[in-house]
Amino acid sequence: MKKQIILTVFCLITLNCSGQPNFDRHFENKSMRIDFALVGNSEYQIAALQQIREEPLWGGPVHNMIDKFNYGGYYINVYDKTSGNIIYSRGFNTLFEEWRSTEQAKIETQSWTNSIVFPFPKQKITVDILGRNKDDMQFYSLLKIDIDPKSIFINRERLKDNKITEIQYNGSISNKVDLVFIGEGYTANEQEKFLTDVNRFTESLFKTPPFDMYRNEFNVWAVELISEESGMDISGKGIFKQTALNSGFYTFGIERYLTTQDMKSIRDAVWNVPCDAVFILVNTDIYGGGGMYNLYAIGTADNERTDVVFVHEFGHSFAGLADEYFTSEVAYDDQFYNLKLEPWEPNITTLTDFDSKWKNLLPSEMPIPTADNQENADKLGVFEGGGYLAKGIYRPKVHCMMRDYAPFCPVCVRAIKNMIDFLTDK
Ligand SMILES: [Zn+2]
Repeated sequence: MKKQIILTVFCLITLNCSGQPNFDRHFENKSMRIDFALVGNSEYQIAALQQIREEPLWGGPVHNMIDKFNYGGYYINVYDKTSGNIIYSRGFNTLFEEWRSTEQAKIETQSWTNSIVFPFPKQKITVDILGRNKDDMQFYSLLKIDIDPKSIFINRERLKDNKITEIQYNGSISNKVDLVFIGEGYTANEQEKFLTDVNRFTESLFKTPPFDMYRNEFNVWAVELISEESGMDISGKGIFKQTALNSGFYTFGIERYLTTQDMKSIRDAVWNVPCDAVFILVNTDIYGGGGMYNLYAIGTADNERTDVVFVHEFGHSFAGLADEYFTSEVAYDDQFYNLKLEPWEPNITTLTDFDSKWKNLLPSEMPIPTADNQENADKLGVFEGGGYLAKGIYRPKVHCMMRDYAPFCPVCVRAIKNMIDFLTDK
């Protein structure tokens, strides 16, 4: 009995009894941001510290501090320095990882800025930033730093106060998913259009299953950024616009692939708003977009397919979903997925460890792989083709939002629901 009491007391002090660290013991209600460079090419990468910042809000979960998904090409582990106990972890993607699979990365070395944000520690911590090695799918340390939260080397400067508008508020920022729209390529005279566009996107997101079931789990915010010019760069056509986040088409030479490498400006834009997920809304009617897990999603405001592109890209950035298509032009060589191992994304499989994917959702009589015929057209199965490859990678349904803007398949629905639960501390 005494042992039981001691254990219970211990649980209350350091961990809650689900094995999650106690937020109030380890963290303050604000954020620590680390900007770092990833430097390398197709052969190697290293990471280097750029700056550590204190920022005023923590909008993420306060119970689910330890990640349970193991998603992402990169990972951060935060340890309490004195005890060595892990007190925070999350996976994330970077655009740099995609660049490393391009032809260009075979002939040149580049340096890209990235950024991670976690709750501000009360005591000294050790932060370990790791990258996933595609040869074995394991994470390896790229940069390990000890941080004293009282250090004079932490930048505590306030940044520009952009106008923040509450689009919908459903409750405390730690119990809700805080989705932040940032305006890109909207001039000072176009900010009203930006807010109209954000409202339209918010409505279309919450009309789309499964998000329609979870509207109450989201707060939505809009950050007004003023660009000098409308639009964004189209470098392949010689068009360059002076905009707040330096976004552009022709990422890795692909015309419709719209991204920005300017992570610093993105993080500077959301420094004082609660933020679990970022969506960059670009003021143009051209088709295109992009999304990286736990980094950002980006899409255009006025294309006729814009509503579904937005939900597709948000599937990448919010729930770590892979592309289920396999015919479109991409910049990666066929090394983007290692077919000998299971990819980390929940909605594709190489069948090397299918038990870890959606096997438990499949009816037992369903053949693996499943024939793509009339009879199976609307069934959950294991269909060959996905992740940019027609052979060797399998997807859960013939059609899905992550392939061709059809409704999300049940595997993607489950992944989205799991992420909403995690970020809302369930
Ligand atoms: Zn799917």
